[in-house]
Amino acid sequence: SNRKLRQEIWNAYQMRANNGNDKDNKELAIKISNLRGEKARLLGYETHADYVLEKSMAKNPETATKLLMDLWTPALNMANKEASDIKEMMLKDGIKDEVQPYDWRYYTEKIRKERFNLDEQEMKPYFSLEKTREGVFTVCEKLYGLQFKQLNNVPKYHEDVTVWEVTEANGNHVGILYMDFHPRTSKRGGAWMTSYRTQKMENGKRVAPVVSIVCNFTKPTENAPALLTFDEVSTFFHEFGHALHGLLSNVTYESLAGTSVPRDFVELPSQIMENWAAEPEVMKMYAKHYKTGEIIPDALIEKMQKAGTFDQGFVTTEYLAASILDMAYHTQKADITSDAETFEKEAMNKINLPSTIIPRYRSTYFNHIFAGGYSAGYYSYIWSGVLDTDAFEVFKINGLFNSDYAKSFRKNVLEKGGTEDPMELYKSFKGAEPSVEPLLRKRGLNQVK
Ligand SMILES: [Zn+2]
Repeated sequence: SNRKLRQEIWNAYQMRANNGNDKDNKELAIKISNLRGEKARLLGYETHADYVLEKSMAKNPETATKLLMDLWTPALNMANKEASDIKEMMLKDGIKDEVQPYDWRYYTEKIRKERFNLDEQEMKPYFSLEKTREGVFTVCEKLYGLQFKQLNNVPKYHEDVTVWEVTEANGNHVGILYMDFHPRTSKRGGAWMTSYRTQKMENGKRVAPVVSIVCNFTKPTENAPALLTFDEVSTFFHEFGHALHGLLSNVTYESLAGTSVPRDFVELPSQIMENWAAEPEVMKMYAKHYKTGEIIPDALIEKMQKAGTFDQGFVTTEYLAASILDMAYHTQKADITSDAETFEKEAMNKINLPSTIIPRYRSTYFNHIFAGGYSAGYYSYIWSGVLDTDAFEVFKINGLFNSDYAKSFRKNVLEKGGTEDPMELYKSFKGAEPSVEPLLRKRGLNQVK
């Protein structure tokens, strides 16, 4: 609540690795970008982004940038509306000043509490791990006819792990699924899907995959089973989507099987599953109180949904700004001659980023693009977001478990791995290219003109 202190902390935060000492990254950022540009030109590409994106779904920086810019104005308009709500709240605190970047998160949380008052503890009893797992299985059965049978006679690396045989509706073997849900000493944090044996064809026969999902969900206690937050529920569905991509794979070569697809396509099978998790009709199938069996009340679902679009103007704007900064660094046709600070400022001025918002990552701490594998690829998170909401819209319109589209999604996306061009696969599934409209609606960004 101390505004002066907020300013101090925010300043330290946004100046990370930018303080003129031996940990300063400004020169490195420019050097890395320029070397990447040089390498791309040596290889015959105009820019590093052209080089990196050649094999992506977007294919070139222009297409990726167009998507970012299609979302930019709606996101910015919503962020401006959110800023005026913050200003109102500040007035109540007697602050007549303009909104500053260091006010944003503080007042956002105040507004969130006032408007939604969503209590995690109130929700958790409806999301036991057991019921959620049944929910995931039900969704897969309704969509693809898949059956899951627990196996107790196979080797496991830890007693907490459960193993399942996955079969088609007619009993044919699909693959084996390991699930490892809870944290323990020596286990890495986070959630992921991995593959012990990747699907392939050998002598004309399908070698079935053995895949695993690993999570770190809240453990059961003496008095209660493992109860998940809705975030954890979404994570479960998400990782399960990756697992399906591995399990249903039906290609010849291992190197092109399952999740071996471009980065801006790989999150489609996973993220689309999150949509089913959050759909009220589906939630009522699995979200049942672990003690009483009571189905989650409508009022609670409604509250969750309303809270879902809150703050999306800000979240989308700061994300897009970082993606556009990434593209700016990697679409230079010649060496950058300015310093990182000036370069960043010019890139952000071009898109009229308001002074109240900074990119989610500034140049000196943009780990994804300078130290991770996401150079010219930070856009892929929202690209996948557009894909999964657009694909799910097909089910919303034609029925949540429409069997024709489920078959089509399975045949054109889940079975194909990286054997065909992702945009062609997507068009074969949907009959059209993806549109940004469903994402704008989902994030509530279509409400301000
Ligand atoms: Zn994922």
